[in-house]
Amino acid sequence: MNENHAEKILQLLKKTFTMPKWVTSNRDPFETLIVTIISQNTADRNTAKAFENISKQFRIKPEVLANAETNQIEECLRVAGLYRNKAKTIRQISKIILEKFHGTLNPILSLPFEEARKTLLKLPGVGPKTADVILLFCSEKPTIPVDTHVNRVAKRFGLAPQNGDYEMVRQSLQSLYNPKDYLSVHILFILLGRKYCKARNPLCKHCPVNALCPSKQLYTK
Ligand code: SF4
Repeated sequence: MNENHAEKILQLLKKTFTMPKWVTSNRDPFETLIVTIISQNTADRNTAKAFENISKQFRIKPEVLANAETNQIEECLRVAGLYRNKAKTIRQISKIILEKFHGTLNPILSLPFEEARKTLLKLPGVGPKTADVILLFCSEKPTIPVDTHVNRVAKRFGLAPQNGDYEMVRQSLQSLYNPKDYLSVHILFILLGRKYCKARNPLCKHCPVNALCPSKQLYTK
């Protein structure tokens, strides 16, 4: 798939969907980290509920969560999957940020991209997607986080290898798009994935970009 085709897909998605308001707001890096940890293997609605619970109980600051009782954090996260592990991770990571980074992620985010990514990946509970979300949303670093929707949509469009792993999908998309569009690609692929390009039974007949999609025949027979 060439850059021109990839660009046509993006332009059509931009015309189809409105970017959600929260995308443009400046996100707090520590809050983003906590939300992203909670969201791992968890539906959006349950992530939002768990974050609401923990925000009611605690200020979302490393110095507060590092000293919270793990079982109190667990109670807040019960609605999310793997809540025991996540509560433990949140406490550990809060302690590390407090002790090693003076209670803020800013020293990490001010590093050059690769160095910042490597440092984030060393934190407990932080995998490539979590690191890329923080780098893109909180520091405008040039990366495309690949969540389950981005991964599926990119492959169905033929913009990434069918068997590509996280890094292959991320690199493929980044090579096709201008860094100024990375945020839009991430968000618009998620919106398309949620509404039309669902994991099971995608709605190809009604999909607004079906004319540009090589996979539409697979799902319209
Ligand atoms: S045509 Fe079907 S497979 Fe292609 S992007 Fe749309 S919903 Fe997904």
